[in-house]
Amino acid sequence: MRHPALDSLLILQDRDSKRLGLEAQLKAVPGDVAAVEKKIATEKAAIDAARTEVKELETKKKLIETEIGLAEQKLAKYKTQQSLVRKNDEFQALGHEIETTEQAIGVLEEQELGLMYNIDEAKKRFAEAEGVLKQNIAGHEARIRSHKERETSLTAELAEAKAALAAAREPVGEPALRVYDRIAARQQPVLVALRGNKCSGCHLKVSSEVESDARKGEKLATCDQCGRMVWFDY
Ligand SMILES: [Zn+2]
Repeated sequence: MRHPALDSLLILQDRDSKRLGLEAQLKAVPGDVAAVEKKIATEKAAIDAARTEVKELETKKKLIETEIGLAEQKLAKYKTQQSLVRKNDEFQALGHEIETTEQAIGVLEEQELGLMYNIDEAKKRFAEAEGVLKQNIAGHEARIRSHKERETSLTAELAEAKAALAAAREPVGEPALRVYDRIAARQQPVLVALRGNKCSGCHLKVSSEVESDARKGEKLATCDQCGRMVWFDY
């Protein structure tokens, strides 16, 4: 014999598990949206990093150009001075200065060339990063939209599921409902079938007393291992 509350309890459990499923799906939505937003942020950060790199390299290049300009002024001054001196040792000293300055200018010009190469590379990276975002942004935005649409439809479904759940609680009698709620607060599913003499919730053997209670269906039997309600599956 089946316990009189069993059928309504099974319906209640079915509605309850539907509600729980929807709640779990709904709970996952913000994380799904955040994951897409994180991808967008990562792609934007790559653009920013490349832009900053270009700027920094260009600043360095300007500094070197200034240094080259100053060194060239110095060189011109030495050359003018050299053309005016009469004494040999002064001429030679200035010649030495000229040589040193020319060498320094050579080093700076090499550095400038290196920087120009690096600027080109950084500009390529910038364009590449911009391309990646440009290519992906429509997809990212579509994904966020679809997550949000899913959220809206899940919210509507959940409202319906909650109404169905409330309706399913009504035919269940008060004591059975109390037992159900107490178990539901701890674990799902609340009601499980006894197969052989095993609880299909925890897969352990129930005592012969529980088995006989479930079989008779006179009272609501609970598994003596996991505490779920067990019903005898004929
Ligand atoms: Zn059990």
